[in-house]
Amino acid sequence: MTEKVQMSSQPTERPKVKLATVWLGGCSGCHMSFLDLDELLIELSKWVELRASPITDIKDFEDVDVALVEGAVTNSHNEHVLRELRKHARILVAIGDCSCFGGVSAMRNYVSREEALRRAYIESESTVNGRIPDDPTIPVLTEKVQPIQEFVEVDFYLPGCPPPPEVIAYAISELVQGRTPKLNYEMIHFD
Ligand code: SF4
Repeated sequence: MTEKVQMSSQPTERPKVKLATVWLGGCSGCHMSFLDLDELLIELSKWVELRASPITDIKDFEDVDVALVEGAVTNSHNEHVLRELRKHARILVAIGDCSCFGGVSAMRNYVSREEALRRAYIESESTVNGRIPDDPTIPVLTEKVQPIQEFVEVDFYLPGCPPPPEVIAYAISELVQGRTPKLNYEMIHFD
């Protein structure tokens, strides 16, 4: 990683920056990368307060300074969470390829929603007496998987699959201090 991937220092007496991380339709790899910050996460906690994360069941949104959104919009619940989050986030960041342009999640788009459901629940080799779920409490799959900018304004894109922990830390550090992170090619990572 280049020397650019450094967290900037911030006086601890300043109010902590409120951060939310949200997981839409994705594999969770981006969030795992965020957690892989390890000791950087401890450094980050000195001036950042985590107010929502994928392990939080978000019912009431609160205002945050920065929101990191992982994953694409794949169902009605994703869209609801994303739109509400946008209303409450000063800076909204699309983190990872699925969020930025659909990525791996958008592979479903090669077939129709109905065919995807049929293949998953009825034609799968491991399925016995399959049936497509019709419980009305289950979020409705969108016709196509879409990146988040199709629904809300995005302030910053952090591509990669997943973006490395150090790059996530660098981006957060710059954004909360009012600067635009400068990502060079070596900082974009694909597994
Ligand atoms: S961008 Fe890659 S790591 Fe992140 S959610 Fe999508 S598939 Fe997973």
